[in-house]
Amino acid sequence: AKKQGRDLVKPFVPSMQEELAKRIRVEADLRAAIRKAEIVPYYQPLVDLKTNKIIGFEALARWKTASGEFIPPNEFIPVAEEAGLIVELTDQLLRRACTDALSWPSELVLSFNLSPIQLSDRLLGLRILKILGDVGLPAHRVELEVTESAIIQDAVTARIVLDDLVNAGVRIALDDFGTGYSSLSQLSNYRFDKIKIDRSFVASFETNDKQDKVIKAIIALGAGLGVTITAEGIEEESQLQRLQDLGCDIGQGYLLGRPAPAEMLAADHVSARLS
Ligand code: C2E
Ligand code: CA
Ligand code: CA
Ligand code: CA
Repeated sequence: AKKQGRDLVKPFVPSMQEELAKRIRVEADLRAAIRKAEIVPYYQPLVDLKTNKIIGFEALARWKTASGEFIPPNEFIPVAEEAGLIVELTDQLLRRACTDALSWPSELVLSFNLSPIQLSDRLLGLRILKILGDVGLPAHRVELEVTESAIIQDAVTARIVLDDLVNAGVRIALDDFGTGYSSLSQLSNYRFDKIKIDRSFVASFETNDKQDKVIKAIIALGAGLGVTITAEGIEEESQLQRLQDLGCDIGQGYLLGRPAPAEMLAADHVSARLS
């Protein structure tokens, strides 16, 4: 609504030519950034809500430009997808993340996001396993986060890819659960190890009694299916408390830890919470 309001008072809409010129510029910058390895993973803790211990980290891509500015993934991942750079970018980020994970205590898990379009690439699973093998990170320490839309796009290929990975011991998490339109059918079609409840549910659930019931139902569903439930976007103590009361397994959010560069993970306040 805010954006619309702004568009109304805007004196002119950028011409297609300008849009195109900007896109070409961003694409060229992105290509250079990948070449110079300027896009790196940050890590956000995943916390066991029963023991309060960190059980792993989710890698979240950050582009630090030469001018010191940070560009968030929602701005460059779509460009990388459209420009055909996502394979190269993912391989680079995953290699880096696996290498970082090697220096963590050996029970910690690395969780890594895949773009929806990547799951329609039949060789994706094997390429990921090759990277794990090269780096020497055991498959059971890696968890891949995929969204429902990724699976719906090309269900046959997605299954081949996921099977390759699962058979090697990699775990699969269904990300942003609740925001897609066929969540439940995906759950019965494929065996996920983990479900991540989308941040939007957690953000509103105390003020919205129905939302609270939805979260409760998802946690019960997880228990029934034997799937671990993670709640994203925990920002307040009261949200954490409620999720713990409901028996949610794992939590993630600014309250529990913000995404931070690899060097920060050695800090005392982080290592104190490792198991
Ligand atoms: P996501 O996978 O749902 O990741 C969670 C996002 O929520 C992250 O945003 C994280 O920084 C943010 N977040 C975590 N805790 C809180 C909280 O308490 N409050 C709020 N408001 N936000 C929180 P980020 O890092 O900007 O990433 C956005 C999206 O970009 C990710 O959503 C994921 O879909 C995508 N992404 C990030 N890294 C990669 C990557 O390496 N590859 C691919 N394909 N996608 C990535
Ligand atoms: Ca994710
Ligand atoms: Ca998510
Ligand atoms: Ca997301």
